[in-house]
Amino acid sequence: MILSGKEVSAAVYSRIESQIASLSEKHSVTPGLAVVLVGEDPASQSYVNSKAKKCEKLGIYSEKHVLDTDTSQADVLALIDTLNNKPEINGILVQSPQPPQIDERAIIDAINPQKDVDCFHPVNVGKMLIGDEDGFVPCTPAGVMEILAHYEIETQGKHAVVLGRSNIVGKPMCALLSRKGKYANCTVTMCHSRTQNLNEICLQADIIIAATGIPEMVRGDMVKDDVVIIDVGINRVDDASDKRGYRLVGDVAFDEVEPKASAITPVPGGVGPMTIAMLLQNTIRAACQQNSIALESL
Ligand code: NDP
Repeated sequence: MILSGKEVSAAVYSRIESQIASLSEKHSVTPGLAVVLVGEDPASQSYVNSKAKKCEKLGIYSEKHVLDTDTSQADVLALIDTLNNKPEINGILVQSPQPPQIDERAIIDAINPQKDVDCFHPVNVGKMLIGDEDGFVPCTPAGVMEILAHYEIETQGKHAVVLGRSNIVGKPMCALLSRKGKYANCTVTMCHSRTQNLNEICLQADIIIAATGIPEMVRGDMVKDDVVIIDVGINRVDDASDKRGYRLVGDVAFDEVEPKASAITPVPGGVGPMTIAMLLQNTIRAACQQNSIALESL
């Protein structure tokens, strides 16, 4: 079975649309998202633009703050302070990577945790770890959990192997899969670049979440029959036959692994489309919390 992020994100957007309509009709509230970009990294500009476009389409108020590459740390912090205190803004996202003079950690720490829709602030990371529903869940791992739930993948008691331990993907993925609850309750093994016997560990996995950034590193002989594969990787590899000169591949060799898998996400069209959808879902959650509205009541 192909786990289509396009299909799941469409379901999330349809849920979001009705929540936005209900927020407006019942509470006269319009959710607001501010996206901050320091510098001119073309990929970041493209991400920021697609977030802004999606907001406009759905009726979420959005502000795009594009600052010069040489903007000082103090000026970025001043902007964060303004956005923290702006009632129209419920969520703040600072796009990575940032130029070298910016201390990313200090910028994240300065965001009001209630507006930290990326879930990078230590308060929200802690809340996620203890299962406090008041916090947020980081967008890409939240997207993976949404895919598992949408396709009703049985996870209870399963051995999930997570490849990668980044703060953005690997670590939160392990925390979410090992939580108590439906579409969780996994026994989790977290692997990284120093892991020994990676092939043997992968061969024991019922579920593999691949997030290493290494193109097609998970090969057919590393997985057992009926494995569930979630491929978070998005990698460009040179391809002269493609008019762009490259094609996108995941961290999993799809053609080798797909015949053995019971379910697998493609790249592109798997986890990729989920990230913005979950960011906007978090923005609506933030708007509800800041206006003392129960999300479930919408
Ligand atoms: P990072 O580079 O921050 O982390 C990669 C992780 O993989 C590290 O923990 C690293 O280990 C581990 N790793 C590297 N080599 C190996 C190896 N040979 N075996 C096992 N583990 C290894 O990447 P991210 O977590 O930010 O992203 C991972 C992938 O997901 C990328 O392809 C990225 O493009 C994609 N991505 C996709 C998103 C989406 O929207 N779908 C969003 C975010 C990321 P160590 O810690 O030891 O260095």
